[in-house]
Amino acid sequence: MIRIEDKSRCCGCTACHAVCPHDAIVMKEDSLGFRYPETDMTRCTECGLCEKVCDFIVEKPAEEHDEALVVRAVRHKDSESLSKSQSGGAFTALSDVVLKNGGVIYGAAFNTDFTVSHARACTPEERNAFRGSKYVQSDMGDVFRNVRKDLKAGLQVLFTGTPCQCAGLKSYIPDSLQNGLVLMDFVCHGVPSPAVWSDYIEYVAKGRKMTVADFRDKSVNGWKVHKESFVFEGGKKECRETYKVLFYKNIMLRPSCASCPYDIYHRESDVTVADFWGIGERIPEWDTDEGTSMLLCNSSKGKSIWTAAMDDVHSRPVLLTKEFMATKNPNMLHPARLYHESGDFAKAYEERGFGYVARRWGDMGWRYKAWQLKVFLRKIFGKI
Ligand SMILES: Cc1cc2nc3c(=O)[nH]c(=O)nc-3n(C[C@H](O)[C@H](O)[C@H](O)COP(=O)(O)OP(=O)(O)OC[C@H]3O[C@@H](n4cnc5c(N)ncnc54)[C@H](O)[C@@H]3O)c2cc1C
Ligand code: SF4
Ligand code: SF4
Ligand code: SF4
Repeated sequence: MIRIEDKSRCCGCTACHAVCPHDAIVMKEDSLGFRYPETDMTRCTECGLCEKVCDFIVEKPAEEHDEALVVRAVRHKDSESLSKSQSGGAFTALSDVVLKNGGVIYGAAFNTDFTVSHARACTPEERNAFRGSKYVQSDMGDVFRNVRKDLKAGLQVLFTGTPCQCAGLKSYIPDSLQNGLVLMDFVCHGVPSPAVWSDYIEYVAKGRKMTVADFRDKSVNGWKVHKESFVFEGGKKECRETYKVLFYKNIMLRPSCASCPYDIYHRESDVTVADFWGIGERIPEWDTDEGTSMLLCNSSKGKSIWTAAMDDVHSRPVLLTKEFMATKNPNMLHPARLYHESGDFAKAYEERGFGYVARRWGDMGWRYKAWQLKVFLRKIFGKI
């Protein structure tokens, strides 16, 4: 039976919750809003299925890196799809293939209160809600069981999510149903705290009705500049950076992200997508603010869905060296390192709330302004 004693050993994928034949496992939130399995011993028969399905703790063989890797630079031909997607719209092209096959798509969407959950889509309109990166851990609910029902009914399913969600689902789905399942993950920096995100939404709204939230709004300063934006009833739009500052500090990530076994070179999902950082060094004429996806086909299933999607996109093969990956997109090779004050952050958040941590570690207090001044002076006078 599952018992979480070390939070860094559980990514919250929900495979154990889904597999339990007695519904003995519920996913319970901690103070940062991350969900962990909790077992009801009055229901548990100690059958061991939950431990068997957990892929996160399985020791993975040591990796051998090749010196270079061929990937695809991808950009959707339809300008509307490109502008609404986080990078180059690879997800839209791949998911259109599955929808045309009569299949279904699972992905992360906003709820009405701007929390983020995984949901199911059968049409392009429903699928469009999954576009855009939501930099927070999504609530999986009972999605794993629903995917299994769809596969059992003979539908093709494209599941999109973090590498750990994909690995958890792959481990949960029986071999007899794997054929219909296509997994698309992304190069993953880690997932931030759902509780901090919800508090931030409340702080930003200040009682106003929010109609749109965007974690990284391309329409503000283009693909390369990360700005979050919010629209309120009446149409007023505000852009901010507080959440971004906390995200990139690696101070509010799920503890498991620092020991992630999936931020590696050889990936288990059928397709992997990413922002193609550094594209200008490989294809200079693609170095624009519209956005470019990087796409990796990791299996024959991945290759066949990509082949069917190719007509909808501009694409070019690109050779990446290990050094290029390490500098431009390090999570292709290894997990993020948690900020050394992550523990202090979690404690302070629990005891003193969002306002305090945003001032102490975000961009709202004097420390951030002092740091900005130091960076500015360093640019002018060199090391100070
Ligand atoms: C938490 C997070 C961390 C990331 N870290 C990196 C990184 O370090 N380097 C990098 O190159 N790219 C990273 N990405 C991926 C990148 O931001 C783009 O999502 C990717 O390039 C796909 O672009 P697109 O235009 O094809 O997708 P879009 O059309 O924008 O579609 C977004 C896809 O991401 C899925 N998704 C969005 N939010 C979540 C979520 N919270 N949980 C699970 N699935 C989600 C959706 O279901 C959809 O399939 C990250 C994404 C997320 C959500
Ligand atoms: S990693 Fe997934 S399967 Fe393993 S304990 Fe956590 S939620 Fe359960
Ligand atoms: S041991 Fe079996 S019954 Fe108990 S929680 Fe795990 S899957 Fe459920
Ligand atoms: S970094 Fe790893 S553990 Fe964290 S969300 Fe991404 S895939 Fe999951």
